This record gives sequence, structure tokens and C-alpha cells, in this order.
Amino acid sequence: MSDIETTLKTLREAVLLAPGNFPLTRHYVRTLLDLTRFSEAERFLRETVLERNREPDFQLLLAEVFYRQGKNSHAMAIVETWCNPENLHRPALILHAKLLFRNGDVSRAVQEYKRAVEGDESLVDHEFASLLGITEWNEDHAEGSDSEGASDESAWSEVVDGKIRALPGDEESAENPLIERPKIKFDDVGGMDQVKEQIRVKIIYPITHADMFAAYGKKAGGGILLYGPPGCGKTYLARATAGEINANFLSIGINDVLDMWLGNSERNLHQVFENARRSRPCVMFFDEVDALGASRSDMRQSAGRHLVNQFLAELDGIDSDNEGLLILGATNTPWHVDGAFRRPGRFDRVLFVPPPDAKAREEILKIQLADKPVDNIDLSKIAGKTNDYSGADLKAVVDAAIETKLHEAIRTGHPTPLKTNDLLTALKTARPTTREWFATARNHALYSNQGGTYDEILEYLKLK
Ligand code: ATP
Repeated sequence: MSDIETTLKTLREAVLLAPGNFPLTRHYVRTLLDLTRFSEAERFLRETVLERNREPDFQLLLAEVFYRQGKNSHAMAIVETWCNPENLHRPALILHAKLLFRNGDVSRAVQEYKRAVEGDESLVDHEFASLLGITEWNEDHAEGSDSEGASDESAWSEVVDGKIRALPGDEESAENPLIERPKIKFDDVGGMDQVKEQIRVKIIYPITHADMFAAYGKKAGGGILLYGPPGCGKTYLARATAGEINANFLSIGINDVLDMWLGNSERNLHQVFENARRSRPCVMFFDEVDALGASRSDMRQSAGRHLVNQFLAELDGIDSDNEGLLILGATNTPWHVDGAFRRPGRFDRVLFVPPPDAKAREEILKIQLADKPVDNIDLSKIAGKTNDYSGADLKAVVDAAIETKLHEAIRTGHPTPLKTNDLLTALKTARPTTREWFATARNHALYSNQGGTYDEILEYLKLK
């Protein structure tokens, strides 16, 4: 029996011996979930645990299992029972908020989240809060506001505004979206040679060599979905794609698209695409595609379903001409992306963006240090010590070293250039952030790798 099977067996036996022990049960169930053994977790809860114990915590654990599988309505059915004031069980509010968020009801998700943490600070979930746009900045401002409702709204719209000015639902900004003209090009992106080449072939050449494509009767179309650990340059590369061909760039975050569900308007989504069509050539970049496409069939609100279908129709260019639109998407969790998004003409090429290798790390460091005062830095030494660091992690190292230098210069009155040792010192406090992602991705690649979709992850992890 493998180590993991032995651990699971021991855990299971422990749970059976202490059926009322919630932390232990939760630990066992979450271990199964982390291994993507969803049906096993569901069966165990339904057939063994809940048969004996129907306390709310145990029921909510089953809701969590449903949630993780994308069975939103099943999860909602349990969660709602514990959210009304007469029967309130506060942890249910967090899961309720997540379900509302997934269904596109962002403002109610914010309300529920706040209701949960105001009564019990141990329920704070920083990652989810930031997804909701609840940041410390917002809290500060919200406290200073007169009415709670008003503060919620201003805090939220501020965050949305920060992400993309082309806010659907707001007629004026939908008419005048913030379409950028990025200055960075592929040369400003370290490494990623293969991904750059694929982008060239799939979406740049059809525009720059349109005649050639026409001569050979090859139709352009379809987009690329980039996936991989956070901070490895997916967004940066999308922006550089626009810069590379002097195209416009329109970044659409998940918050913006979900927000449209509140504004109930497929028309607004159409408007965003139309704005991009008017600004051709234009790279449209959709971030966090997983949240957009997750569990389409399970959406409770048919308005949400219509909107996602509208999104797919826009990608297909059913009623419009998509020539000159370059479609890029990104996700950290490709296994949650609805299959409908991957059909031909949509995100029909899925590319893995791995953490940079040593050579790429050296390039990234060089780019990051290009406009800084430096003294003969041994880039290959730093690159050699930063295995598993993402581009964003490397940027954090450089930023930290610069900050220290700056303080020193202010204190002594003598600015000195950055040296290798300064970066080595900064390295001590900055850990790589990609490992956690691989812990999850590995399981998906090993256990749900239909059609070899995640072979690149296995190759990267040297499991293939
Ligand atoms: P997430 O999945 O969290 O959205 P991401 O993969 O989109 O992350 P970016 O936001 O593009 O990552 O990267 C964060 C920052 O890290 C960039 O703005 C850039 O400064 C730096 N960076 C990341 N990768 C590279 C790279 N290959 N070359 C140069 N800079 C990079």
C-alpha cells in the first residue's frame, strides 16, 4: 500500500472511532478533496458520517464537497438552510458568499462575506476577500463613510475601476473603455520562447500575414488559453502580445464580467466586444477564465447562463466579424474551465506557462534591473538560487533589495549601486510561490489527465 493510502486508511479509521470529531472528519475529507477524490469524499460523508451525525458543520462539509465539484445547486440547497437569521450557522455564510460569487451575484456575495466575518473574525478568508475587492484600503474608506450601503458600493466600484475602466453596466465607460496601447514587447518578457512562438503562429501571423492566410484559404480565429502558476507572466505576456504588433489591448477581469450579471445585460457584454472590434487590431485578454466558465450547466440563475452563452457566441463571432480580434485568456485552474470554452474557434489552444527556468530567470532579472543603478551583478548566481521562483517573485526580490538600498542611501546621504549581495540578502526573505500551485496541479495531471491535457505539467515535474 502506498504512503498516501496508508495515511488515508489511518485517518478514516480514526474518524470512524470518533464520529463526532468534526476537525478530524474535516481533515480527512479535505485530504480526499486535495487528491481530487471527490466522489469518495461525497460517499463517505453521505453514507457514513451523516447517517450518524447531522450537525450543521458536517452538513456544510458535504456542501463544501459539492462546491469543490462545481455542483452549485446541491451546495446551495444545504447552505441556505443555515443562513437565515432564525437558524444561523455563521460558517455557512462564507460558503454562501462563494456560491453567490460564482453565480455572479457579486454584491450579495460581499454582503454575506461581511456578515460572516463581522460576527466571527476567525472566518476571515483573505484570498476570497481580495477576489471580492474587499481590501484593507476599502475597509478604511468604508469605515469613514456615512452609510454602510454607500460605503460598500464605493469600495467595490473603486476596485473594479482599478482593474478595468471599461466597466460594463456603466453606459458611459462602456462607450469609452480604457483600451491601452502597451509599450512592452516580447523582448521585455523573459523566457517563454515556446509560448511566444505559439502566439505568433496562432494569433499574430493571421493578422500580420493576412494575405498569405487568404491565399492558402486558411481561416484565422480562435484564441489561446494560458495556464500555470500565479505570477509567471501570463498577463504580462498578453500585454506584450499587443505591444509586439502595435495593437490595442483590452483586459477584462472576471469581476467585470460577473458584474454584468448584476447589470443583467448581455447587451453590455456585446458592447465590450464591439468596442474592441472598433479598435482593431485589438488583443482582448480575459483573466480568470475558470470562474467565468465554471459549471455553466449548474448555474441557478438563468440570466447568468444566458450571459455565458452570449460570451461564447461573441467568441464565435456569430453575429459579428471577429477579424482583427486576438483572444487570449488566462487561468490558474484550467481543470475548472468549462469544456465549452475549449471548442474550436474559442480557446482552442491551451498552453502551459511554467515558472521560468534558470536562463529565463536571468533574463527576467536583467529586465527588472535594466533601469536601476547596479554594480556588476552576478545574474547567473541569483538565477541559480531561485529555482521555482515566478517572475513576480523575482520582481519582489529586486524591489525588496532596492528598498533596502534606498533606506540606506537616505540614512547615510550616499547612494550606492545595487550589488549581488544585496539581492542575495533580499532572497532570504522572499520565498517562491509556485510550489503550492504544483501540489494541486500534480494531482489533476496524475488523476484527471483526459487526452493528455496536462502532459506538460507531468513533464515539468519529471513524472513522464
Ligand atoms: P496571475 O496568474 O496571478 O494573474 P500572471 O501569470 O498573470 O499571474 P503576471 O501578472 O503577468 O503573472 O506577472 C506579474 C509580474 O511579474 C509582471 O507584471 C512582471 O513584472 C513580472 N513578470 C512575470 N513573468 C515575467 C517574465 N517572464 N518577464 C518579465 N517580467 C515578468
